[in-house]
Amino acid sequence: MRLILLGPPGAGKGTQAARLMEKYNIPQLSTGDMLRAAVKAGTPTGLRAKSVMDAGGLVSDEIVVGIIADRIREADARNGFILDGFPRTVAQAEALDTLLARNDMRLDAIVELKVDEAALLARIEKRARETVAAGGVVRADDNPEAFKVRLDAYRAQTAPVSAYYAGKGGLKTVDGMAPIDAVTAAINGALGG
Ligand code: AMP
Repeated sequence: MRLILLGPPGAGKGTQAARLMEKYNIPQLSTGDMLRAAVKAGTPTGLRAKSVMDAGGLVSDEIVVGIIADRIREADARNGFILDGFPRTVAQAEALDTLLARNDMRLDAIVELKVDEAALLARIEKRARETVAAGGVVRADDNPEAFKVRLDAYRAQTAPVSAYYAGKGGLKTVDGMAPIDAVTAAINGALGG
């Protein structure tokens, strides 16, 4: 199973990806997680990406496409993967098409979580509070200023990715405002069980 989870920041992609990982025994490939790991490790990519990420902007297509090109060829991704947070621009979606064709891979589904934008900031704030309560460190971009930039980037650059896949006939839309278990059930239904 090779699938893409689309949706704005705070839509619940990470939560649903974790459940899909378990169900299908495939890895979640989150470019956000990989970039945060690069920032933490102080790699050249991390150093280039940090300030853009902290401000809520998008890292260059070249960097994220390079990361995904390497990652989908690793052994654990042989039987499939869940792309979470990638592609975020139409150029990335096109680059992904090329990468998949080159590796003789095909996408099985593209699932979009539709959410009410007004609810997203509250979700992000809740995520930050829960992280603090659990003794964790809040993401540098989980604050209202960076969130606004992230949402603007989503509207301008990522929303067209849904149209790109809808045009190809592979997009399935799920109500991301439903309770978590209901969203999971709807995704499973969209994936055919
Ligand atoms: P996320 O964890 O998916 O919310 O990503 C956190 C941040 O990493 C984003 O706000 C971007 O700065 C960067 N990022 C993650 N994935 C991508 C991508 N596919 N293209 C560009 N920037 C990305």
